[in-house]
Amino acid sequence: MKQCCACNKNSFFPEMLGDIVLCKKCLIKIDGLMWKYRDFEKGEDFDKYRYKAITLANKNQFPASVIDGINAYFDQKQSKLKECAACGKRRQKTTNANNFIFCEECFSDIAECWKRKKYFNREELYNERDKVLKIAKEKNFPKEFIEQISPYFEDKVEKNWISTLDGNKGQTIEFYNDYLTIKTNKNFNEEEMQSQFNKLNSKININSEDLKSFKTIGKEIGKELISDVIPIPRAFKSMKILDMAGDKMIKHLDNSKTVSIKNYVKDGLRKVYYKDCFNTNLLFRNEEGITVGALLIITNNANVPDLLFFFDKSKINKIKKIRKILEEEMEKAEKKVDNDKKATGNQHFAKQIRELKGLLDDGIITQEEFDAKKKQLLDL
Ligand SMILES: [Zn+2]
Ligand SMILES: [Zn+2]
Repeated sequence: MKQCCACNKNSFFPEMLGDIVLCKKCLIKIDGLMWKYRDFEKGEDFDKYRYKAITLANKNQFPASVIDGINAYFDQKQSKLKECAACGKRRQKTTNANNFIFCEECFSDIAECWKRKKYFNREELYNERDKVLKIAKEKNFPKEFIEQISPYFEDKVEKNWISTLDGNKGQTIEFYNDYLTIKTNKNFNEEEMQSQFNKLNSKININSEDLKSFKTIGKEIGKELISDVIPIPRAFKSMKILDMAGDKMIKHLDNSKTVSIKNYVKDGLRKVYYKDCFNTNLLFRNEEGITVGALLIITNNANVPDLLFFFDKSKINKIKKIRKILEEEMEKAEKKVDNDKKATGNQHFAKQIRELKGLLDDGIITQEEFDAKKKQLLDL
């Protein structure tokens, strides 16, 4: 029990304002319940309540020592407020971003995009960056802070990042300029995914004899056969690729009922270069009991295992989009390999012609022989 400094009555539930004791009644007289337990989010609110408390204390003829005590209490509270680097107001709730302090009101608008770590694609990333820049300028964020915004976003692009997608089944697929990664985390339920994968595959009814013959039947028939089962649009660019497709498809479909996803999905990070990818298959069925889809990435490099990316069925539209990204990147990589081969080929011809020129200069071959050989080499 303590004695109230204002009315001098004893109080069972005294309220402390710093060193000052007030009974509940006296606290209510100065509107204390409105501000004592309040989180002051705005500086102007704070000043308003202080003014009101002092005015009411004077009106109720509280002793000067109590009025001083109330002022001291507000001063102490105010010293804990932090100044927002954008609006300049002193606030209780603040956020620290890149060594600047912002009130929540100023920061909340950009926080959503700023603090996001993943972007679905580059366009989205740039849109977010522009949004953050626009808001930061409008809200008068410090110049030094605004200067840090673009590098924050550029950093993601510099790492040659293109796109990221969480399949919501314990795997994340990320695309970079030359390669992709699939991260499998602890949430990945191998047993469940294996059972879902079996369900996805059980619908594929084709015997391996058909597939073996498709290799020899040739392009058109093979195309027909395969497109009935799983579309492989890139596979028919050349017979060589068709043969590889045949081998791969036979392997995959032969084993489809017993295939263990363990080989395709390993804990941690898998990385594969687009130039080593030769095809993608989307295993997806919108049927009861099947809750996932799988993106199968088939490689043309015996040393690089094929990859499986499992995704929640609700992600199908996003998967279609990233599959497009993937196929574009694969096509780019393929073109690059072709061009590199051509360039090496041209260098080879140039070297041969230089050697011939050497033979001509040394009088070992005649001008006619040189011209004929050169023509032949250059295929003129
Ligand atoms: Zn009192
Ligand atoms: Zn502010």
